Amino acid sequence: MLSNPSLALPLEKGGKVAEHYVGRFAPSPTGPLHFGSLITAVASYCDARAHHGKWLVRIEDTDIPRIYPGSEEHILRSMDAFGFDPDAEIIFQKDRLDIYQSVIEQLHAQGWVYACQCTRKMLGSNHIYQGTCRNLNLPLEHQAIRVKVNDQMICFTDQLQGPHCSNLQDDLGDFVLKRRDGIINYQLAVVVDDYLQGMTHVVRGADLLDNTERQIWLGKILGYPELQYMHLPLAMNDQGQKLSKQNMAQALDLSQAPQLLQQALRALHQLEVELDSPAIMLQQAAAQWSVQHIPQGTALQGIYL
Ligand code: GLU
Repeated sequence: MLSNPSLALPLEKGGKVAEHYVGRFAPSPTGPLHFGSLITAVASYCDARAHHGKWLVRIEDTDIPRIYPGSEEHILRSMDAFGFDPDAEIIFQKDRLDIYQSVIEQLHAQGWVYACQCTRKMLGSNHIYQGTCRNLNLPLEHQAIRVKVNDQMICFTDQLQGPHCSNLQDDLGDFVLKRRDGIINYQLAVVVDDYLQGMTHVVRGADLLDNTERQIWLGKILGYPELQYMHLPLAMNDQGQKLSKQNMAQALDLSQAPQLLQQALRALHQLEVELDSPAIMLQQAAAQWSVQHIPQGTALQGIYL
């Protein structure tokens, strides 16, 4: 357990004690929210509410150079416009860098992490890190920090995608938790915050499926409880690419919130919800939420936005 006082959890509305289900929506502000983000937000929200659980929002903004101006604000405005009501204050990862650093120090004291001076050029096209710096005992300052992995199969059963496994040593090698420029990697921040916020369930896009074994591994060596995962099929554009900020997916038009909410629920094959105020629509969607109806696979067919 960590003893740093800054690890305190944000205040919960009404000071309620943790329940058996805590879920979250954790967007990165690398662009405004798009229809794919809305599907994730709706599914994570409805699944949490259908379990009488809590639902939190966390802004994943550790990669400061990739923050797109105005997108944090668009995320916050979207939460209001779509009637989402998180059960705790929204947290921003860039305010929590000291927490991630203290976890790196904890892992260092336990011999799990080491400094790596390999440049991209030195690593070349080989995407599996060979452990070149593992035993060099370099000082941690101003270097990338890698975590050791073992020759071990990590498996989990995704609620929608079924069984998924990876041997991290064969598939990836020791991976980076902090970059040489000081940026905390998503893999570390997500695991630490899911733990500190008491998360039990992760509902997110299937583009993150292959990250899960790394996160399970980190959770395991940190002694955190295991989470349940549900990776949603992704909305595609008309060129068959997943909607993303990189391929300029259209920002959610907040003046069309009820219509977009209805489309997101249709994309997830949920029972029809009539147009109303978004908060009422979400309430109804959660009451009739059915995971069994969500389309199979990692892509939503015929949903072109
Ligand atoms: N921040 C990630 C994204 O916007 C999602 C992380 C997660 O849900 O684990 O793609």
